Amino acid sequence: MSTLDRARLADLHARERAAFSDARPRSRALAEQAAAHMPGGVPMSWMVKWPGAFPVFVEHAEGAHFTCVDGIDHVDLCLGDTGAMMGHSPAPTVDAVTRQLSRGITTMLPTEDAIAVSRGLAERFGLPFWQFTLTATDANRHAIRYARHLTGRTKVVVHNWCYHGSVDEAFATLGPDGTTVDRRSNIGAPVDTAETTRVVEFNDLDALERALAHGDVAAILVEPALTNIGIVLPDPGYNEGVRELATRYGALLVNDETHTICAGPGGYTAAHGLEPDMLVIGKSIGGGIPCGTFGFSQEIADRIARSIELEDIDVGGIGGTLAGNGLSMAAMKATLEQVMTADAFEHMVPLADAWADGVQAGIDAVGADWHVTRLGARAEYNFSGRPSHDGQEAHDADDFELQQYLHLYALNRGILLTPFHNMALMSPATTAADVEAHTTMFGECLRELFATG
Ligand code: PMP
Repeated sequence: MSTLDRARLADLHARERAAFSDARPRSRALAEQAAAHMPGGVPMSWMVKWPGAFPVFVEHAEGAHFTCVDGIDHVDLCLGDTGAMMGHSPAPTVDAVTRQLSRGITTMLPTEDAIAVSRGLAERFGLPFWQFTLTATDANRHAIRYARHLTGRTKVVVHNWCYHGSVDEAFATLGPDGTTVDRRSNIGAPVDTAETTRVVEFNDLDALERALAHGDVAAILVEPALTNIGIVLPDPGYNEGVRELATRYGALLVNDETHTICAGPGGYTAAHGLEPDMLVIGKSIGGGIPCGTFGFSQEIADRIARSIELEDIDVGGIGGTLAGNGLSMAAMKATLEQVMTADAFEHMVPLADAWADGVQAGIDAVGADWHVTRLGARAEYNFSGRPSHDGQEAHDADDFELQQYLHLYALNRGILLTPFHNMALMSPATTAADVEAHTTMFGECLRELFATG
């Protein structure tokens, strides 16, 4: 196995940092200007975490590419971290949204589109009832609130190193002694997460049963395959086991499909015949227009209807003024019906496989102890020789400096990867040439890094 020479990595990284700054004077100037009234020069704090001394300012994004203000074309394998999984500005979504823009954006009343959207979601995901939000985060928050309300219980179970948006309960990890502790960087936590949450490892049904046996768990909030700490795939029967335990211990099972929608048009849930009580999705389903949604079973709909008075439905913790607005609904209808189709996945999934094959070939050529994991239209490499079996393993396989370098090397050659991990996502607009560009770049990068070529 080839080992990584840290001094060599540091030298190469310095070279790439300089090349980045030299090639992007306009982005650098805008970043300096932006810093006057936005900390870090960015409208949202995550945007400082890209590799390079300043963020790349976007001029134009279309399909699977974007051009930055310095006129450099990029293959976008990040796609807004799934928000643009259907490609940037897909034509049917743009047409529908353009029509709706001059017919009223938000009224706090339903538009007819909502009927087609909820029916389409029911057919796709197998749950009959749907409610809408503007983000997946809010959809998760609402699912948790309903679960607590219906069960009269307080705790939420999540997986170690999960991410479900800025959901307070989910900012917990497993401590060294197996207890629940606040995750590093849990900014301004309202309470100690041990009060609200029990964390279990992915693929550990015994741990889940122990967590549920207390009898105080309202909801189990899961991604059916982890995607936010690298990709961690479930063991055969794991998700079915989670379902069985949820039923046995009276907790509601919430599948968060926000990222695992990459597994197919009905997400991992439909692809594998899973039966959650609730399902959450956001980001991609409006083609990038803000929207989120959560679906639930007939039984849950009945229990909600029986237990909440009309008088209490306003500022009770569920809902949002702009949620379900006409613009979001038009975007979802067009995206779901015309863009996020089975045909689209038939194009996207083979491209992700080709991307993963290219990465594997690059790894094999230099003998690096790394591997690639595949999940439908998404794939990811990490710095361990075998697939991670749980969140902790995936976390421990990361290497921040190395990751930043690889991302910067790619960016300097016009390829954008998803920040925070080494993930690539395919859209209906991604082409074989886009994938090939990555394969070539990645092979050259590794040959130089491991000094084998
Ligand atoms: N659920 C999952 C699985 C996610 O990965 C994310 C965001 N990365 C969210 C929910 C939250 O999405 P948003 O930030 O759009 O609310």
